Amino acid sequence: MKFRKKIVAGNWKMNKTLADAENLASAIKLDLAEYREVDVVLCPPFTALKTVGEIISDTHIKLGAQNMHWESSGAFTGEISPSMLRDLFCRYVILGHSERRSIFGETDTMINRKVKAALAANLTPILCVGETLDQRDSGKAGEVVRHQLIAGLEGLKDELKNIVIAYEPVWAIGTGRTATPEQAQDMHAHVRRILCEIAGEETASAIRIQYGGSVKPSNAAEIFRQPDVDGGLIGGASLEARSFVEIVRAAG
Ligand code: PEP
Repeated sequence: MKFRKKIVAGNWKMNKTLADAENLASAIKLDLAEYREVDVVLCPPFTALKTVGEIISDTHIKLGAQNMHWESSGAFTGEISPSMLRDLFCRYVILGHSERRSIFGETDTMINRKVKAALAANLTPILCVGETLDQRDSGKAGEVVRHQLIAGLEGLKDELKNIVIAYEPVWAIGTGRTATPEQAQDMHAHVRRILCEIAGEETASAIRIQYGGSVKPSNAAEIFRQPDVDGGLIGGASLEARSFVEIVRAAG
């Protein structure tokens, strides 16, 4: 099996004023500045990207955004373009998060445009996929995730070696309810099989697949131990330095 370095990203969502963001990034930096065993990404809100980017600029920690528009400029009030994220030294961008899909109506077609625009701008997309509780209970989880991947990655093949997928069951996000390690592994293996159909074995085996959904210091190690789980996308537990650092170390 190909070695895949684990990657843990903190999705701060719409939390942290500038002062709070500065404190959190500085506290994480104290512990992880020299840490190389795991790729670490911080995704603060847009307003804190510059400040957090400056704090971590002399470390191995990377900066990510939580969303972007697919166009490079124009009349798109309230939106942020790929080149604006590059201006701030972002390296990653979360795309298709379930909150973007369900609250803001993002479709697979929009997400596909964003993924392509991110790759064209040299940003690594973290493409989120995952089923709702109803879809899982009615036995449709595999089919839903397949559709999200096929539609979200439409028109892409070799470029996919530069992408990260986050499997985030919607029923586990912010609910305190986590997928069991077996549920996570089963779905991650399914995701990798689909990636193999899309991009071939070599690329599929290089793509990192994060698990997201109520990961905490107490459950992280067991989830990260699964062979197809290559790290985590962390929401709530990334808002506090100690829990985020513990989760990162659990991946190491
Ligand atoms: C997320 O929103 O990406 C997430 C995984 O949130 P939480 O860790 O809070 O469930």
